[in-house]
Amino acid sequence: MRRFFISSQAITQDRARLSGAEFHHLRHVLRLDRGTRVSLYDERGTTYHGEILHIAPTYAEVGLTQHLPPETRAFHLTLAQGLLKGRKMNLVIEKATELGVHTIAPFVSAFTVARIPDGKRAERTARWQHLARAAAKQSGGLPPEIRPPQSFLALLDSIPQHSGKIIFSERERALHLREFAQYSTQLDSLHILVGPEGGFAPEEIEQAQAAGFVSVSLGASVLRAETASITAVALCQFLWRAIQFPPLP
Ligand code: SAM
Repeated sequence: MRRFFISSQAITQDRARLSGAEFHHLRHVLRLDRGTRVSLYDERGTTYHGEILHIAPTYAEVGLTQHLPPETRAFHLTLAQGLLKGRKMNLVIEKATELGVHTIAPFVSAFTVARIPDGKRAERTARWQHLARAAAKQSGGLPPEIRPPQSFLALLDSIPQHSGKIIFSERERALHLREFAQYSTQLDSLHILVGPEGGFAPEEIEQAQAAGFVSVSLGASVLRAETASITAVALCQFLWRAIQFPPLP
C-alpha cells in the first residue's frame, strides 16, 4: 500500500482530504484512482489505512477504515548537527531519517561555515522537514522532527537532564563509543552532538562537558562531518537496539 503524509488537521472522523504535494504525487505521479487502498500517516505518528473514495481536481477524499496508534519507539535518538553546507546537510537529514533518528536539531557554532539568514530559517527548516518526510516515506519509517537552527548554547540549554549525552570529537583519544555503550546499556533517550565542517572550538567541548556531555571517539580517522553523523547515528541505533533485525533463522 502506498504511504502518504497528511496533517492531522485534514482528518475528520472517518474521512481524510489529501491535497498539495502529496495529492500531486498520488494523482499525477502514481496515477492512483478511486477504489485504491492507501496508508496515511500524520505528524503524531498515527497511521491510517483507507480507500480513495473520490478524486477532485485539487484533492483526494479517502475513507478511513483503520487507524494504528503512533509506534512507541523504544529508543529516542536526537542528532544535534552543526550546520553544514547545502547538499551535505540534506544528505545527513536523509540518511539519519532512514536510520530512524527521532529528532534532528541543527545548530550554529563558532566554526560553522554554512550561514542561513534569520529571515530564511523557517523556510529552510520547512524544506528539511519535507526532505525528511520523503525519506521516511521511502524507508517506511516515521519522519523525525526537524528543529529550527539555534545557537550552540541554546541547544545545550534545551537538552533534558535524564537523556544520555555524547559529544563526538576527533580529538578524543581515551573513550571510544564501544566503551561508552558498555556502561550505558539502559538508555531510552540519547542526544549526540556532531560538529560542522570546522569542528568544535575547544571551549565548546568544555561547555558541552559542563552540561553533562561525554566526549567520545569514533576511531582514529578524522571523518568528514557528514560521515561522522551518519556513522554515529547508525552505530547508536544499532547499539541501543532501535534497528530491529529479523531474528536469525
Ligand atoms: N576539526 C577537524 C579538522 O578541522 O580537521 C574536523 C572536524 S570533522 C570534519 C566534523 C565533526 O565530525 C567533528 O566536530 C566531530 O564531531 C566529528 N568527527 C570527525 N571525526 C571523528 C572521530 N574520529 N571521532 C569522533 N567524532 C569525529
